[in-house]
Amino acid sequence: MTAREKRSQYKSIDSFEDFLDSAAAEIRSAGLWRRLKRIDSPQGTRIKTSIGDLLNFSSNDYLGLANHEAIKAAATEVLERYGVGSGASRLISGSLAPIHGLEQRLADWKSTESAVVFGSGFAAAIGTIPALAGKNDLVILDKLAHACLFQGAFTSGAQVRVFPHNDLDRLEDILRRRAAASSVNNRRTLIVTESVFSMDGDQAPIKKLIELKEKYGAWLMIDEAHAAGMFGVNRSGLVEAMSLTDAVEVQMGTLSKAVGAVGGYICGSNGLINILINRAKSFIFSTAPSPATVAAASKAVDIIKSSEGEHRVRRLWENVIAAAGILMERPEYFNLPRHVTGAAEGVSSPSSAIIPAIIGETNKTMESSRQLRERGIYIPAIRYPTVPRNQARLRITLSALHRADDLESLRNAVHALDL
Ligand SMILES: *Cc1c(COP(=O)(O)O)cnc(C)c1O
Repeated sequence: MTAREKRSQYKSIDSFEDFLDSAAAEIRSAGLWRRLKRIDSPQGTRIKTSIGDLLNFSSNDYLGLANHEAIKAAATEVLERYGVGSGASRLISGSLAPIHGLEQRLADWKSTESAVVFGSGFAAAIGTIPALAGKNDLVILDKLAHACLFQGAFTSGAQVRVFPHNDLDRLEDILRRRAAASSVNNRRTLIVTESVFSMDGDQAPIKKLIELKEKYGAWLMIDEAHAAGMFGVNRSGLVEAMSLTDAVEVQMGTLSKAVGAVGGYICGSNGLINILINRAKSFIFSTAPSPATVAAASKAVDIIKSSEGEHRVRRLWENVIAAAGILMERPEYFNLPRHVTGAAEGVSSPSSAIIPAIIGETNKTMESSRQLRERGIYIPAIRYPTVPRNQARLRITLSALHRADDLESLRNAVHALDL
């Protein structure tokens, strides 16, 4: 191709600005345009925004640790001692002592041999799955697994299969077919799911998942992003609460939700952690987390394990039950899953700090979020593609720090809804 032909070929492509405009128009016309809301205060149950002070029912800071005094003090002390940056990736020169301290704490917390910290939960997923599965292997995910788990599976180059949410019969079909195909002998199969699902707040049937993966010789990776901090004697997650630690090959979590800091981690055997350090690209080619946030996470884990942690979780569940009861007062608008209504009626314990109040239609959901905001309550509308198209919802999350009068404000705003 001559240089002139090449130039004219390039000319036929939209200009960069045209491309951006048409991409934006496409998102807007689908009613899915998103924008950032600036917050001028620390995270907490009360946030300052450009439209005024709002009561926050949207954060994943479930235990109210994101702005905790003792945690800030621990971070400040390490900031003074180690500075801000970590200088390089861990394998080059960034493996600062506070990270080793955090990893030891995480392994103790989860009762595993070892742990490794990543820059985020997202980075943990996209580094770990490709380190364990590749071409010719199979990764099977729950349909509602977090985007980072799907991203990790696709990046791995393995075959990817999906089973309907918590549908273990369908999962077994996939496993059975895999086992029957003789050509795939000795190929690895990794099942990936969450213990508490981020947009639905329900739990995975972990015990049955383990029975299945053992029957078919598969491995299991469980993301405890929304369970760590809340379940079990140490409050390390559902796997601990069910005493199944030794049966789960890969335990993943984030430091950015109940732990109140930022970062991600994998807990498991020494063998697993050594392979991740050698193979996970998001670990090898990324600068180590800042020592101050690492120190914050360490202190947070100490608090979660203490009687203060126990008290905070108790307060959290009281708030979840109260909020579920309030939402049940508007059945004409909200479709609440059984795990939510069961907790409100005292039939079951709360399955998480996440309450999905499903409205269905996107516009109606957006409007309900807007009306609540006008009354000083911030609850985000979650819509496609984060959830299926006809399942737009308000995603209400509770914090241990919500007070009785905050819930009263929620009740008043929910009663005033007019959709
Ligand atoms: C938030 C989340 C992640 C990502 O963790 P970050 O630390 O925010 O990157 C992973 N998995 C699930 C289920 C999550 O909800």
